[in-house]
Amino acid sequence: SAARDRYVKKTKTVCTYCGVGCSFDVWTDERHILKVEPGLGHANGISTCVKGKFGWDYVNSGDRLTAPLIRDGDRFREASWDEALDLVARRFMEIREQHGPDALAFVASSKASNEEAFLVQKFARQVIGTNNVDNCSRYCQSPASKGLALTVGIGGDSGTIRDIENASLIITVGSNTAESHPVLATRVKRAQKLGRTKVVVFDIREHELATRADQFLRPKPGTDFVWLGAVSKFILDNDLEDKAFLAGRVNGLDEFRESIGDFTLDYAERETGLSAGVLEALARQIAAEERVCVLWAMGVTQQCGGTDTSAAISNLLLITGNYGKLGTGAYPLRGHNNVQGASDMGAMPDQVSGYQNVTDELTVQRHQREWGVTLRAQRGLDNTQMLDAAIHGQLKSMWITGEEMSLTDANANHLQEGFEALEFLVVQDLYFTNTARYADVVFPAAASLEKEGTFTNTERRIQRLYEVMPPLKGTRPDWQIYMGVADRMGHRWGYTHPSEIMAEIARLTPSFAGVTYERLEGYNTLCWPVAEDGTDQPLLYTERFNFPDGKARLYAGKYRPRQQAPNEEFDLHLNSGRMLEHFHEGNMTFRVEGIALTAPDAFVEVSQELAAERQIQSGQWVRLVSAHGAVRLQALVTGRVNDNELYVPMNARKAQDAVNHLTGSQGDSVTNTPAYKDNRVRMEILGEV
Ligand code: SF4
Repeated sequence: SAARDRYVKKTKTVCTYCGVGCSFDVWTDERHILKVEPGLGHANGISTCVKGKFGWDYVNSGDRLTAPLIRDGDRFREASWDEALDLVARRFMEIREQHGPDALAFVASSKASNEEAFLVQKFARQVIGTNNVDNCSRYCQSPASKGLALTVGIGGDSGTIRDIENASLIITVGSNTAESHPVLATRVKRAQKLGRTKVVVFDIREHELATRADQFLRPKPGTDFVWLGAVSKFILDNDLEDKAFLAGRVNGLDEFRESIGDFTLDYAERETGLSAGVLEALARQIAAEERVCVLWAMGVTQQCGGTDTSAAISNLLLITGNYGKLGTGAYPLRGHNNVQGASDMGAMPDQVSGYQNVTDELTVQRHQREWGVTLRAQRGLDNTQMLDAAIHGQLKSMWITGEEMSLTDANANHLQEGFEALEFLVVQDLYFTNTARYADVVFPAAASLEKEGTFTNTERRIQRLYEVMPPLKGTRPDWQIYMGVADRMGHRWGYTHPSEIMAEIARLTPSFAGVTYERLEGYNTLCWPVAEDGTDQPLLYTERFNFPDGKARLYAGKYRPRQQAPNEEFDLHLNSGRMLEHFHEGNMTFRVEGIALTAPDAFVEVSQELAAERQIQSGQWVRLVSAHGAVRLQALVTGRVNDNELYVPMNARKAQDAVNHLTGSQGDSVTNTPAYKDNRVRMEILGEV
């Protein structure tokens, strides 16, 4: 009706939760969200999951910060924007003056927009003069990006989410796809139901997709590299490889063959627990299938050999010719809505936007022209190194946007020590988070529904978000906050709209050369790389791989067994991850009443065998103790885990019970990504049901 139309507004936006990147219209009456209606989204069609459909109350939560906070002894006081921005600019200048630019470090948010991630690294490099900048892909998908960069040259999904339905065989490895990437999982399930594809799931936990798979294979923790090596070796030894593809498009076969020389099926059976017969049948199947794609996530990357295993997946796809056609290729599944974008935009210690090296001559020249500064050549600190540097007194100050680092980085107690050692910490978020407790200044940020910008989802698809409602009074979009400090430090950026930031990104980034807000109008999207004329590339590697000679490179990796196998003192293996209803640490989803009621807290999944042996029942309180800390949780006896495996979702209602109090600092040897999945604990029973 006309009356309704007067009050009700319909605005297109992109989901702020996971990397699938569902887009939809949000119907609002002022700040009141009436409904979320998926329309023409490329990634999702007409689907959303529970978070995308109902998970929006956090925007209007009474917990939102509405004024900057400044530390005053043990307390915080509200301050004006001018006072807070002045203080941050002054302290940054003092610290840089006293200790040099590398005494400061910056963390971009994977929940903020591309334009905002771009500005964080611009701030670090232009205003401060340091490469100490990173984003949370360090905690998740850096090993996958690296493994793909080493083998095919681009650290992103090789095709689109829709393309996955064209596969004749989908293999998932270490991915709880149905809960972590729900709408993408519906495409897998549908293709399987329609008889188009078979699904093989590798995981140590029998999650939902595992129960639906044509074949569910449960290797021992941290041994994916071994079965991948053995299957690849069997294919090569038995002449089952795609010879034409290898001859025409791939380098490094001899070294690769040598590197997997010891990976016989018998060795793989001993190491992984999967039978040699099953692995042989799988090798034959992969070689015979028309189109194979592999989806993987944290079960692979958050291990000591995350990069090597990611490269091993890519190797298997290469020797069987599974790149460059619809329904083939590598799909590392990105966690956050814009974790792909935060890396694409150069919030990384060694690369600026578009994965251009800080040492690359052309890149340095382009930035010199645009920013008036010479990029520093040496690699900066990554997330994991920043806190160590703080503890050792080299790092004095950090600015963290939208990351609950104190709970999401591994070894939370160690992290706390790092935060306490900092001279000056700035935190920017929607709420007074656990990390904010250590801050000297807290900036109240606007939520994604309250601003314009772009996000890039797991399939490299760039999508626009529009302002559903104005920023909550007292808050500002992140890009304006960075501008406020830059201004006060003598760099007048002068952007009036995020589209101007995108124009700068396009000028500096060959893979974004043709990205403009006009081309992204409404539901229009672009998958990078985007040529100047606006041609994008939803499917990569159709003709060449991203190396100078156009050929892919097989990577001779190394098996890095887990370091924390259970022992006498800590006799249980601890696994952790997401659950459908909550997102990561839960700062947003616990503020959604319906979700908090449905899933009120984390728990620890205990196998039926272990429960019988130790007389544990669901609901019983237990204490998990590791070498790093202890948490208290209720047990849930389930068939999803077996033997001495435990599983804890990463979203605890109480900060002190977050699973990362238990995890250690060991990590992937190449990227420093913490090996969250490689941990041992003991379990103490606390009370009755
Ligand atoms: Fe949002 Fe991911 Fe759910 Fe889509 S699948 S609605 S992007 S959380």
